[in-house]
Amino acid sequence: MLLTITYREKPATDLGFLLHKHPARPQTFELSFGKVYVFYPKAEPEECTAALLLDINPIDLARGKVGTGVGGLFDYINDRPYAASSFLSTALARVYGSAMSGSCREKPELAGKALPLEVHLTNLPCRSETDKLKEIFEPLGYEVSYVEHGLDETFPNWGMSDYVDLTLKGTVRLADLLNHLYVLIPVFDRQKHYWMGDDEVDKLLHHGGDWLKTHPEIRWITRRYFNRKKSYVGSALRQLLTEEEAETGISEETEDSTATADTGDLETPPATEPETETALEPNPERKKRRSPLNDQRLDAVVQAVRDCGAATVADLGCGEGQLLRRLLTERQITKLVGMDVSTVALARAETKLKLDRKAELIRNKLTLFQGALTYRDQRLEGFDAACVVEVVEHMDPDRLPAFARTVFLHAAPKTVILTTPNRSYNKNYEALTDGKLRHPDHRFEWTKEEFTAWAEAVCKDYGYTVRLSWIGEIDEDGQQPTQMGVFTKCG
Ligand code: SAH
Repeated sequence: MLLTITYREKPATDLGFLLHKHPARPQTFELSFGKVYVFYPKAEPEECTAALLLDINPIDLARGKVGTGVGGLFDYINDRPYAASSFLSTALARVYGSAMSGSCREKPELAGKALPLEVHLTNLPCRSETDKLKEIFEPLGYEVSYVEHGLDETFPNWGMSDYVDLTLKGTVRLADLLNHLYVLIPVFDRQKHYWMGDDEVDKLLHHGGDWLKTHPEIRWITRRYFNRKKSYVGSALRQLLTEEEAETGISEETEDSTATADTGDLETPPATEPETETALEPNPERKKRRSPLNDQRLDAVVQAVRDCGAATVADLGCGEGQLLRRLLTERQITKLVGMDVSTVALARAETKLKLDRKAELIRNKLTLFQGALTYRDQRLEGFDAACVVEVVEHMDPDRLPAFARTVFLHAAPKTVILTTPNRSYNKNYEALTDGKLRHPDHRFEWTKEEFTAWAEAVCKDYGYTVRLSWIGEIDEDGQQPTQMGVFTKCG
């Protein structure tokens, strides 16, 4: 990742004094997670640019020496080497520490003065929050612009990536600029590479104390800086705001943070399927209950697992582990794995299943790992049964053939139990007008006929037979909300 700072007032090379880095001397700094290079692509009296390039060592990440501690495949496949993140803040503090504190022996008056500066930062992960860039940086006096990138120019329908290249222009003290970046980069990135310790509040007060107090988004920034950890957010706000302001702020933060209070460094995942299903439910009485459809579906899947007599079961796209929780107590099952593409979902599953408090026998039964169902994976081979519950509709339709190969050709368990929404039932949900789907991440939903046709084609291609059934309340046209296929391998 690259951060450049440009100064254009004569003699612009004074930037070298302010940063305590000589423009003619490229420098390298060794950090525990990689190397930082500081050099000047341009150093002329009219214009001077200092570049800080952070080169994270992916081997150390993979060995778990540094990283987010999420583990699994995340250690190998992640955006850490190129995304602007808390690694960059740590690098800034280390390499530009003196400039950050505002000290400059040679040019003290310049260090204390607001200067016209321009910053360019590559690959700031800000998802769909680009509006927030202005809300956060403009009150600090910056003109904000950014460039978004497509995920892959060969596949424009994949949409935009999560990253933007950000440019900030403003007349600010260099020390203030560096402190703004130190605090605000991780606010956008959210994954912290270090375990947040008790000195974290002090760090925020040290780098943000002066300017954060009057920032209109102080609560949002604080909450995100601490990944919504209640105790830190509350403690920081109490020290930054007046007593009265802080109390309002804290109660808001506290409410807002309960959902993720136990997830530590992780971001908020989107609403789960049962949550969105409950939200769609038009009947207020039924809405109060915990998604009865979800319970009915899971009951049906567990029954199908029992019926096929499987002893080894893989839950593919296990999400936060609702099915795993039920399967864990099934006596006939001796080995259980949960696989999902999302490390966030897996971490939540681990927390929710409270494995550390379970008896050793149960704990030893289950393994969670990250993987993608569109790639052959030997870890999925040799199971009696695989469950794929409410997952296929999260894949782009052109990936379905790859999914079918992974599950039915390569993993090839004796039984595959697969559920997916029945689009023909959506007319019963008031909120789903104009062909809307049940969950924001659904790429499609099949009608009864479409699901039947897909299931039959899979059987023909890979040598399975299928028994289809439908789950949930029956509407006046005989449609039910969930469809299930139990596929059995021939021979
Ligand atoms: N089976 C769970 C979760 C359903 S939500 C339940 O019924 O509660 C869909 C899940 O599929 C998400 O957790 C998502 O991360 C996962 N998923 C989507 N595409 C995937 C893929 N290609 N490989 C593995 N998991 C995937």
